[in-house]
Amino acid sequence: MDSSISITGLRGLPLIQKDDDIAALICNTTTLQNGDILCIASTIVSKANGYSRRLDEITPGKQACSIASVTGEDPRFLQVVLDQAADVLIETPFTLTALPWGHVGVRSGVDASNVEDGYAIYLPPDPMAEASRIAERIFEITGVLCQIILTDTCGRAFRRGQTGHAIGWSGMTAIRDFRGDTDLFGKVLEITEEAVIDEIAGFSNFVMGESNNGVPVVLFRGCPAWKGHNEIYFTKSQDIIRRALQKEEC
Ligand code: GDP
Ligand code: MN
Ligand code: MN
Repeated sequence: MDSSISITGLRGLPLIQKDDDIAALICNTTTLQNGDILCIASTIVSKANGYSRRLDEITPGKQACSIASVTGEDPRFLQVVLDQAADVLIETPFTLTALPWGHVGVRSGVDASNVEDGYAIYLPPDPMAEASRIAERIFEITGVLCQIILTDTCGRAFRRGQTGHAIGWSGMTAIRDFRGDTDLFGKVLEITEEAVIDEIAGFSNFVMGESNNGVPVVLFRGCPAWKGHNEIYFTKSQDIIRRALQKEEC
């Protein structure tokens, strides 16, 4: 049977301010159905929670100043980056960090775009909890059970160009696990785990656009369900590339 998925960028959401109820704003914009997947740009979740810092209130430390002297970035911005990091993997030519919840990203995902001048916005410190909270709030308002993916635009190793990545999710597993399935020729798949939430986040990022498009939420309707697990982040010891970067023995 043919199957189709509809993908809709939600227009008409306001510029998000601290304490805005994102779930309620989404519910006012569209009529949701059980099983809908909502991709939400982490930027607006951070704005609604006040996860931002004024640069003129920050005194950069030694490490931030030392990185800034090489990259030419604002050392106060780099201090926000370092304050979010659990571990610094690379300092220059760009700062690559691991966040306490497992994500590895350039500049800790700290951003100065789509926020007021003089502010740096950082990723929600517990994105899984934010995703659950939004799902629960939507259920409270509408009685509809949605699945939520918080997204951020991220760079990737080995390939040029940024894509959307999932940084928090609720109502689904991160990974679709094909291990144990048989292929078209009856061979058992031993390795394949598909990072479905990143695939969906990636396409939502295309619909959102960057810069001034004003579409921070994308609705996917009709995605088939999948089964798997949530272990999308390698632990430090599993991550061969990270260990190589930090010059530990693989
Ligand atoms: P990120 O990928 O989470 O860092 O978010 P972006 O800054 O790339 O924004 C993603 C999309 O949301 C773009 O279309 C932005 O124009 C839009 N956007 C960002 N902030 C707001 C906001 O406060 N209100 C609305 N309506 N759109 C926003
Ligand atoms: Mn971002
Ligand atoms: Mn983006």
